[in-house]
Amino acid sequence: MIPFNKPYKTGKEYIYIEDAIQRGKLSGNGFYTKKCQKYLEYKYGFGKCLLTTSCTDALEMAAILIDIKPGDEVIMPSYTFVSTSNAFVLRGARIVFADSCPHNPNIDPNRIEELITDKTKAIVVVHYAGMACDMEKILAIAERNNIKLIEDAAQAVDSYYKGKPLGTFGHLAAFSFHETKNIISGEGGMLAINDMQYTDRAEIIWEKGTNRSAFFRGEIDKYGWVDIGSSFLPSEIIAAFLWAQIENINQIQEKRKAIWNRYNFHLKGNNNYYTTQEIESDATNNAHMYYLLCNSLEQRSKLISYLRNYNIHAVFHYLSLHKSPFYKDKHDDRELPNCNKFAERLVRLPLYVDLSLQEVDYICEKILAFEI
Ligand SMILES: *Cc1c(COP(=O)(O)O)cnc(C)c1O
Repeated sequence: MIPFNKPYKTGKEYIYIEDAIQRGKLSGNGFYTKKCQKYLEYKYGFGKCLLTTSCTDALEMAAILIDIKPGDEVIMPSYTFVSTSNAFVLRGARIVFADSCPHNPNIDPNRIEELITDKTKAIVVVHYAGMACDMEKILAIAERNNIKLIEDAAQAVDSYYKGKPLGTFGHLAAFSFHETKNIISGEGGMLAINDMQYTDRAEIIWEKGTNRSAFFRGEIDKYGWVDIGSSFLPSEIIAAFLWAQIENINQIQEKRKAIWNRYNFHLKGNNNYYTTQEIESDATNNAHMYYLLCNSLEQRSKLISYLRNYNIHAVFHYLSLHKSPFYKDKHDDRELPNCNKFAERLVRLPLYVDLSLQEVDYICEKILAFEI
């Protein structure tokens, strides 16, 4: 069986977890948490990083930080994971779903401005498959209209737009270290803060609404309840696992890219029932995902079950959020045809570090032999 995903271990995880236990501080914001945060700030140039227990939590922190209130509107793509919108719905926002680009699932920058009203508080972009949205256009829209820009960079670690790392464009950005992502800790995430006006309050929200972080730095002589917040920080055991991954990020990325390139070598242009992923010229490929876009829902279903017969586990992805049971009655009547297209026709192929190039060859051979 070739699974869709297999969590990768560098081998150092056990060593660092044992060390974290030996250090005798298992709760959050200790040695390994700081090590991960510092390294990622340094490597990618984020203003400040805070590890969280998930990308979902980082998005929830972002919604609190930009003061989302009932009635505020937040624009985001409909083709995304539920957490992107849930985080803002929890604070009372109304989600205004935008359509995807015709050629990839990222938010269509040409269909954002028409959705802006005087209630619009933020735009949330999702760099799907780790490929950058059109940040130049989107930044200009956010600035022109004086609204906050948040990046859901869950899939976008180690990816760039015009040479600048994703997660450095928004006022805030959220990353995921869920086991299906490039760099993992089982469950895990991170809030990257680029607008430094948010750093003090972010630490408070992170530490249950207390100024505990400032207390431990010796900046104040007692700590107490100063704001809303929750328990958003992961334990040192999680951070120790994550450090083993972060330390090996270049090697992990190299292996994933080799797999991606092998897929593309075989599958690109060689077909009559799908099209392959195109990487925009301003963007890089972080090899988070290799997907095909089938010509119809029916063909996709047939392809997935055909591959299952060869023990290859390929999977579809998001369902349109504007048509979800929870949101369909709250959505205005706009059709989002590109979003629906990706929901119906996109299929993701197995991609994990331990997938061998021979296995990729085998998968591609089956895909090319598939008859509609
Ligand atoms: C994985 C993912 C999330 C959620 O990440 P968690 O760490 O599981 O909370 C959110 N948004 C996108 C686009 C994702 O791919």
